[in-house]
Amino acid sequence: MTVSSGDLVFDTQVLGRRPGTEKTYARTLDAPADLGLDVLGVPEGSPIELELRLEAVMDGVLATGTASAHVVGECVRCLERVEDDLDVDFQELYVYDDPGEDELALEGDLLDLEPVLRDAVVLALPQNPLCDPDCPGLCPECGARLADDPDHTHGEAIDPRWAALTHLTEHNEE
Ligand SMILES: [Zn+2]
Ligand SMILES: [Zn+2]
Repeated sequence: MTVSSGDLVFDTQVLGRRPGTEKTYARTLDAPADLGLDVLGVPEGSPIELELRLEAVMDGVLATGTASAHVVGECVRCLERVEDDLDVDFQELYVYDDPGEDELALEGDLLDLEPVLRDAVVLALPQNPLCDPDCPGLCPECGARLADDPDHTHGEAIDPRWAALTHLTEHNEE
């Protein structure tokens, strides 16, 4: 595993591996690409407010913090734009040596916060974002957004005579 350079990598050398030593950070950083879900996420390059405390413990460095970001996506029922503010808390131990299966490790003195931030954001996002909990979705006939036009109706879907004509036309083209 290699650590990428960037805003989400922190050098823990200042902590000197002395348990109880800590350092806090407050910074605004640009969101990395693909942060979130397909239907809803943090747009690449948009600001993330990060507050982070790194604390040296016996086995490694404990990262505790909060990230705030603006998320943008679309309603899964009507495709209307959905926006929200997201605040996520996280806490993760980065061990110095020999990470277990579900553990993260420092790379030398460097701590890459990106996987923790990604997990926290994805977990906090709704899988099926809605513009409104009662969004009625789209009209199955014409695709109109029913929230904008709840009472609209259609006559007979396809007049049977036109259906017959359509069939003839298709036949002639063969
Ligand atoms: Zn909707
Ligand atoms: Zn319709």
